[in-house]
Amino acid sequence: MSTRRLKVAHLYPELLNLYGDSGSILCLRRRMAWRGIDPVIDEVHLGDTPSFCDVDIAFIGGGSDREQRIVCERLLACRDELHAFVEDGGVLVAVCGGYQLLGHSYLMGDEKVQGLSLVDLYTDRGSPRLIGNVVVKSRISPQPIVGYENHGGRTHLGPDVEPLGRVLYGHGNDGVPDEAGVRHEGCLYKNVVGTYVHGPLLPKNPGVADYALSRALERRYGDGTLEPLDDAEELAANAAMVERLMSGKVLEDDHERPGARIR
Ligand code: GLN
Repeated sequence: MSTRRLKVAHLYPELLNLYGDSGSILCLRRRMAWRGIDPVIDEVHLGDTPSFCDVDIAFIGGGSDREQRIVCERLLACRDELHAFVEDGGVLVAVCGGYQLLGHSYLMGDEKVQGLSLVDLYTDRGSPRLIGNVVVKSRISPQPIVGYENHGGRTHLGPDVEPLGRVLYGHGNDGVPDEAGVRHEGCLYKNVVGTYVHGPLLPKNPGVADYALSRALERRYGDGTLEPLDDAEELAANAAMVERLMSGKVLEDDHERPGARIR
């Protein structure tokens, strides 16, 4: 059988790389290589004109409002191609500032900035910033998703957009529980995963990494089956974090509001 390959487009790593977001690219690279899948990593920089025609997974990290805006202007120029990629089932993983760009708009100060309208959501702002560790239960990962959030934006999903998951600890999209007392985190739309979870996301959450790889393989080769890996260390780290946070043993930083922990 010829070697399978997947192409990953890492969008603007020089601008959007908060809290180790680029570690997610290393994770994808290694998890592919360990399985004999050829990883092709294409960094898209500011001067480049991105093309998504042969991309399997696009990744966009988080950053400051200023950096986000520069990136958004670049991506608006190729928005139709990115939209076609998403509608065709291309895998797009977007973290925090990158996640906010997926929607119709986001607020910078009082200014409403146009987003990419790839997913039916929008982002406004609130005070205080939502900062701290986060644990999310999601159908796309066998383990709870763990990581770190720090955002002034509050993201609101349209009625047909599924949240990535339920917040077990932390704030999530807007920090506000719904009528059932549940806070939601992130979004799922086709093969788009949007989330506020930095950390970096994928090394801390191998289930999410494998979800992205499996969807990309399915789209490219018609078979998303993944050979299992020995994830003992990753799973022990993930479990240790869940245990510390859910048992209340972690010392939260000064910014985190009391009562952030909900079950
Ligand atoms: N600038 C955005 C906000 O504060 C995103 C920050 C981030 O990527 N962590 O809401």
